[in-house]
Amino acid sequence: MISERMKPLLQNNSAIRVMFEEGKRMAEIYGAENVFDFSLGNPNVPAPEAVNQAILDVLREEPSVFVHGYMSNAGYEDVRDAIAQSLNRRFQTKFHKDNVLMTVGAASGMNVILKAVLNPGDEVVVFAPYFLEYGAYVRNYDGHLVTVSPDTKDFQPNLLEFEEKINQNTKVVIINTPNNPTGVVYSEDTITRISQILQRKQEAYGTSILLISDEPYRELAYDGVMVPFVTKYYDNTVVCYSYSKSLSLPGERIGYVLIPDQVSNNKELFCAASIANRVLGCVNAPSLMQRVIKRCVEEKTNVAAYDKNRNRLYQALVQYGFQCVKPEGAFYLFVKSPEEDEKHFCEVCKRYCILVVPGTSFACSGYVRIAYCVSYEQIERSLEAFRAVAREYGLSQAEK
Ligand code: PLP
Repeated sequence: MISERMKPLLQNNSAIRVMFEEGKRMAEIYGAENVFDFSLGNPNVPAPEAVNQAILDVLREEPSVFVHGYMSNAGYEDVRDAIAQSLNRRFQTKFHKDNVLMTVGAASGMNVILKAVLNPGDEVVVFAPYFLEYGAYVRNYDGHLVTVSPDTKDFQPNLLEFEEKINQNTKVVIINTPNNPTGVVYSEDTITRISQILQRKQEAYGTSILLISDEPYRELAYDGVMVPFVTKYYDNTVVCYSYSKSLSLPGERIGYVLIPDQVSNNKELFCAASIANRVLGCVNAPSLMQRVIKRCVEEKTNVAAYDKNRNRLYQALVQYGFQCVKPEGAFYLFVKSPEEDEKHFCEVCKRYCILVVPGTSFACSGYVRIAYCVSYEQIERSLEAFRAVAREYGLSQAEK
């Protein structure tokens, strides 16, 4: 019954989801307060109160047939306009409603764009470590994933290898900053250099290479770090945005794709993406959530709560002797495994009731991802367990 295309996905079912299920099982045995589950990027910060209020207000104030009805595949025009104007205010851009297409989160936005542009065999370049779902998204449309290996020094992309891996078959490049799983924010220099390389390659091959900037974590940046707005650096850029993390609404499935005027064949691409939204079966992004986003377009999540978690956990882990690049964004720490086989390290952590995800789940072995979008209390409670793991590995600072 199962298709050949699905079989590999069944075999390699997401290690993150497996860990998450394991966490639930362990919580039943040991008690939830004794299990330190850092596996899933599920925001613990609640959605802003204004979001809950907006849901009630929409239901009270807007006509039911409108709120719950079908609309254009690209979404409600007034919602798209509100998002465009908000971006213009924040980033001094000149977007309008016909640049914004509402989607069922960033995952769907990426699928919509990839479906709109990929021919079988087209190459899609990604930078390891990366969100492993990209591979499945690209294979959905018979694209070919090309991976640039990680630069573990600072987890900025390896641009020498990037340049070598682009050829006349390169159709798309995907970047994700702030990054899952490293928390690294690509610097302005990195974005400028990526743009210059792509520009040079487009000219050399006479092709169009689309840069997809996957930005679910845009708003989660710390210490005043600047997250470059990528459309300003390279014309053929589309942005896949999501409110999953920025407003803590991952289950509501709401986001958008931004297709600026300067993208080659932008009107045709917008039309193709709208149709892709329909034929992929989404038809349109959730209607009620679109209405809510219009009212909450300037709302922000509690970034300070994540920042507090980040500082506490990072400082403790480094003090115990673990190695980690200090993240400037998202809500992940990407920690070097004290042994080569990071899957075994995850098993050792599990003995101390700590659940973390192996780096192979992000195409980067030798590291583990810790999602610190949990309560501050969980972080405090977990520290003794992390210290015990460090001790087991004889890390130098663990005894202090
Ligand atoms: N891209 C990255 C890098 C992610 O980490 C995630 C979710 O964790 C997504 C895309 C999917 O986000 P959404 O919930 O908006 O579909």
